Order: sequence, then structure tokens, then C-alpha cells
Amino acid sequence: MAESTTQDKYRLLKQVFGYEHFREGQEPLIDAILQNRDALGIMPTGSGKSICYQLPALLKTGTALVISPLISLMKDQVEALREEGVRAAYLNSSLTPVQHQSVLQKARAGEYRILYVAPERLQAPGFQTFAAGAPFSMVCVDEAHCVSQWGQDFRPSYLAIRPFIESLSCRPVTCAFTATATPQVRADIIELLGLQNPEVVFTGFDRKNLYFEVRQPKNKLETLLQLLQERPEQSGIIYCSTRKNVEAVWEALCGRGYPAARYHAGMSDRERQENQELFLRDERSIMVATNAFGMGIDKSNVSYVIHYNMPKNIENYYQEAGRAGRDGQPARCILLYSGQDVVTNQFLIEHAAENEELEEKTRLLVQERERERLRAMTFYCHSRECLRGYILRYFGEKPPPYCGSCQNCLQHYEQADITIDAQKILSLVKRSGERFGTKLIVDTLRGSKSERIRRLHLDEQTTYGLMHDTSETRLREIIQFLVMEEYLQVSGEEYPVLRLGPQARQVLFGGRQLTMKLIKEQPPEKKAPEKSTQESGDPALFERLRALRKRLADSQKVPAYIVFTDAALREMCVRVPKNSYELLQVSGVGHAKLERYGEAFLEEINDYLQQSAGYSETIKS
Ligand code: ADP
Ligand code: ZN
Repeated sequence: MAESTTQDKYRLLKQVFGYEHFREGQEPLIDAILQNRDALGIMPTGSGKSICYQLPALLKTGTALVISPLISLMKDQVEALREEGVRAAYLNSSLTPVQHQSVLQKARAGEYRILYVAPERLQAPGFQTFAAGAPFSMVCVDEAHCVSQWGQDFRPSYLAIRPFIESLSCRPVTCAFTATATPQVRADIIELLGLQNPEVVFTGFDRKNLYFEVRQPKNKLETLLQLLQERPEQSGIIYCSTRKNVEAVWEALCGRGYPAARYHAGMSDRERQENQELFLRDERSIMVATNAFGMGIDKSNVSYVIHYNMPKNIENYYQEAGRAGRDGQPARCILLYSGQDVVTNQFLIEHAAENEELEEKTRLLVQERERERLRAMTFYCHSRECLRGYILRYFGEKPPPYCGSCQNCLQHYEQADITIDAQKILSLVKRSGERFGTKLIVDTLRGSKSERIRRLHLDEQTTYGLMHDTSETRLREIIQFLVMEEYLQVSGEEYPVLRLGPQARQVLFGGRQLTMKLIKEQPPEKKAPEKSTQESGDPALFERLRALRKRLADSQKVPAYIVFTDAALREMCVRVPKNSYELLQVSGVGHAKLERYGEAFLEEINDYLQQSAGYSETIKS
């Protein structure tokens, strides 16, 4: 590049934007554009993508056309540019016809260095006539992932961008930017926008100062209050999935004296603006909001982002969580998950208004992909691997297995060789004819003497009792892992049956070694101090659970054992589960029963725990 251009580049960075140095990724993108090479920048929110096209726009002759879908952002950008003395304008649906004409007229006269347009405008005849004769210095596509049906915000109007660029008499250099793109979406952007041999800059999504955690609390509000108590004075955002939740949480916080503001689409523009200001100026340290809040907001001292509900995909989650810790200080991203969040999101996906304009076939496709993304988000909440690693892998990176700064990495894991265990399990599944569910397979391997096992001749299997010293929890964990990794699969018309999966041969005959991360098993004496309670649990708890079972059974007019058997209650007394996941480990508790009775039983157990904690406090004092 000519020396003068290089000097100009630094001069403008300082003069117009007020910065001394380029940030990671900015310079190669700017250089490419200045050399008339197409460019694609995939950089996290807040990394400074705007300068990558604004600066070259000022060095090139002609008007830079910036295509952006976000009307409010456009306005902010243009105002900021004007403040810096750059002639800029925008064309979108917020303008009156007169304003619109006036902007077009000035644009025709070449008065602007940068002109923002909404993608829908490209097809308007008035705009096309103007564009045909306009000497554009470059075309820049912001939020470029919107072009892909694999992306989370697919916009059909983005598909018109490529034909538009190709219709221009002289093709200007084209660049595209996005903050989130899976490898699939990245490929789509290049293809569907027709980028020619672009300079691709991918700065990586890892935000090292963010800590990730997922909780599945019985009572979200209580957990939230507890989290807030741990960080008074600090600024944070609480994201809720619905306006109703925002209102409820906001009221609960205000009622307890927390300085909280709220933000959702049901409020007037003025109210929203005011609340946003209060938060930005730190007059209210907590913002309770739906995902409508945050676009283009650059508040650096947000030290936590708590999700009161699970978002519908990882893209949204990471973008929202990523609003924490912009100042580089340690910040926490905590997601409060419940099974209901999955149901709510499914509903939102089925009834998405923005998809109604799509053709039926495309709409179904988009919906299916949204469901797929929801599954990935749900898996995140259940994942026991490194949470940061999970997110980064989702975006196509290859992070190390441990980050040391997420909940899962901090809990103690051990990498266990499960090859032999897997061989035993797979071989039993195969030899017993792929007819049984997890429970019977587990019982057989552990050598259960139950009548059912004998009746089904499972005690005659060579693997019968071979894993008697493996705990049921661990055995179930291993089976779950084998299902996730496709060594096993679950299917069946009437009830779920374990069958060999496509990968099973590798372990049975291919000599493949299998390892998985397992939570280190606690030495038993630490789990329960008294031997008698360790074996059968606290009889007082057992009585409480029995009474609860009776109430539930009576109200539904079914026999008590239909709710849970005595054995299941006894196991609950031993395990004392604190959340749905732990409750599921109790034999006799499947997903259906968890749905129906889980909450009531967890509540009872929690109640019991709190009372007995209070009791031992009294004794000690
Ligand atoms: P993005 O579009 O990637 O989300 P922005 O372009 O809005 O990010 O930039 C985020 C913030 O970073 C803005 O306040 C911007 O002024 C600032 N910024 C951009 N480039 C630099 C730089 N080279 N040095 C310091 N700050 C920068
Ligand atoms: Zn981790």
C-alpha cells in the first residue's frame, strides 16, 4: 500500500475516531478494502467493526453504501459520524416521503461519504434508479449472517443484495461483517453475497474474562436474589424471556429496594429511552429486560448477565451474555434454567410472526433449524463438559477441553477410561436382543435379584452382575454418554429401548478406547455422616414423602405406588436430590414422572433440608 495511504489511515483513526491504535482484526480488513479486495470480518460485538468500513469510506472517492437491518442502530451511527464531522445519512422506513426525497437528492449530488440503507430499500424503484448512476466507493453489509437460512435472524431481503450489487454498472468492492457465524453461516455469507476471494478475518469468540455457569433452581427468584446479594453495587443485566417475566422480576427487585430499571417492547419509546439512560449513567445498577435491550449498547462496566430464562439459541445467549465484562474485568454469565424454558421457546418458534412472510417451504425449513438450535441451547444447560468450550465449538472453534473458568471446569472432574464398561454394556444390549430399557440393563449389570430379572432370564446373561460395584448413578451416566456419542440409541414404540448405535462396532470390534469426564465420586462417609441414615435415609423424610405421595395419589384417584414405589421414596431419602437432574438419577423416576411430580417432591425435600439445617443450628448454638 502506498505510504501516504498508510499515513492517512493512522491520521484518520486519531483525528476522526480519536484512537491511537487499531484493535485486533481492524487493520487487515481496512487494508483489504483500501486495496479493493472484498473482505469478511467475523468479530465479536464491541470489537470495533464499524471503523473497519467507516475509515476506508473516508479515504475512498464516492459514497459508501452500508446495508444494515437495524433502524435504531443506523440512526445512532449516523449521529455519531456527524458529530465527528463526517457527512452521512440513512434511508429507512422511519423517514417521511419528503425526508426520503431530500436524502436521495443529496445522495445523487454526491454529498455523503456514507449512506446507510435498510435492505428492503434496495428493491424500491426510486432507489434503484439512483443506484444505477451512483459511483459507490464500496458496499458494506452489516449483520451479514442475516443472509443465511442457517443463521438466527434470516431475512429474505438480504438475498436481494447480491443481485443488487451485480446490477450496478461497475461492481464496487464489497465487505461484510457479523458478530456471530457458525462455519455453515460463514460459507453462506461468502456464497450468497457473492464475495470475491475475500480477506476473511476471524478474531475468535473467546472472552477470557467471562465466567459461565448454569443453574437449575427450584425457585428462580430466590436464586436470583441470592446472586444479587453476592454482588451489591455492581452493575448487571437480567434477561427474561417475556414482558410478563420482566415485570414480575422488576417488581420483586424494586419491592426489596434494589435499584432496578426495566426494558421491553411493551413500553413506550420514551419510557424505554429513559430507563436505558438511567442504567447507562449508573443511576440504576440493574437492568431487567427482554432481549429487546442491548442492541448497540456499549456499557463497559456490566459485571454480570443473569438469564432468568434460557434463550432460544446459543447465538442469542452468547451475544447477550457477552454484554458483561466489556471493560476486560472478570464478569459472570449465569443462566437459570428450567424445563419450562424449553416449552416456552418451542411455542415461540412455532408462532414466530417474523416468519409468516416466508414461503411455506422456507418457513418450515427455518423452523426446523430453529428447533435444532434450541436443542443445542438445551444441551448447553445439561452439558457437563466445559461450558466455554461448548459455546466456542458451536461457533466452529477448537478450544481446549478445560478452560478452568466455568462451573463445569471448576467442579472436579476425572477423565475415566470407560472402554471396558462400555464393552460390557454394549454386549449385554446386543445379546439380550435390543429389547430392554435402561433400567433393566442397569439392573442386570449390577446383578439385581429382582423377580423381573429372573423372569426375563436376564440373570443367565454372561454379563449379569459384572458391574455390581459400579453405582447406579455412574452406570446411568455412562449409558447416557454412550447414547450422546451414538454408541447406543434409544427408540421404541411403547417404551424407550436401548439398541446399538452406528458407532458401537468401533468399541466392540474396532479396538476403540473410550474416555469420558465423570464427576469424582465422593467417599461415602462424606455424603452422610451416620451409617444408618446412609443406607436407608432419614425415616422422618421418608414419612414426609409418603404423606406427600398419599396426597397426590388421593387427589388423582390412583393407588400410591403409581405415583412412586416405596423403593423410589427410600432412594430419594438416601440421595436427597436437590434438582431435577439429581431426581432423575433415582431409579423409578423417569421424565414423565419428573414432569408430573418432580416439583412437589423436590419442594418437600428442600423444605425438609431447610428445617433440619435450622434444627442443627439451634443445637449448635
Ligand atoms: P461492533 O460493531 O463490533 O459491535 P463498534 O464498532 O460499535 O463494535 O465498536 C465498539 C466500541 O469500540 C466503540 O465504542 C468504538 O468507538 C470502540 N473502538 C473501535 N475501534 C477502536 C480502537 N481501535 N481503539 C479503541 N476503541 C475502539
Ligand atoms: Zn470450562
